[in-house]
Amino acid sequence: MTAKVRCWCQHCQKELPPSHTGPCPHCGKTGKNCKVEMRANVGIKSTLSAVHEAHFSDRSFNILSILLTLFFGLWGLIWIGVYELIPLPTWLKNVLPVFIVFFLLFIVWWQRYRVLMFTRWLDRKAVARKTIKSK
Ligand SMILES: [Zn+2]
Repeated sequence: MTAKVRCWCQHCQKELPPSHTGPCPHCGKTGKNCKVEMRANVGIKSTLSAVHEAHFSDRSFNILSILLTLFFGLWGLIWIGVYELIPLPTWLKNVLPVFIVFFLLFIVWWQRYRVLMFTRWLDRKAVARKTIKSK
């Protein structure tokens, strides 16, 4: 809250500085009225931040499972296709898929909020809605 004092001439209603004394510079008469204005400060920066906590529902989990299965399935097929073509040592070729799977699962866990929002977005896209008129 801030308090501000404002003063006016009693006769011509022109605003005067609160410290003004003596006759009004506008009309020459003496006398002023003052009023204290209280105002709430707007635009105070709030230090509060909101946390949106989201939980995986069965539905979101199912969607995520389907997405991951599709991805790993597709990626597995590609990997089998290119396995012989990549000039890498065999042990590395065998370790790489496991590494990538864990890396992806880590990203899903790390970005779980975004992943969850993405599954919900997909869910909304997938849901077909129909308005049924009731008699
Ligand atoms: Zn005046």
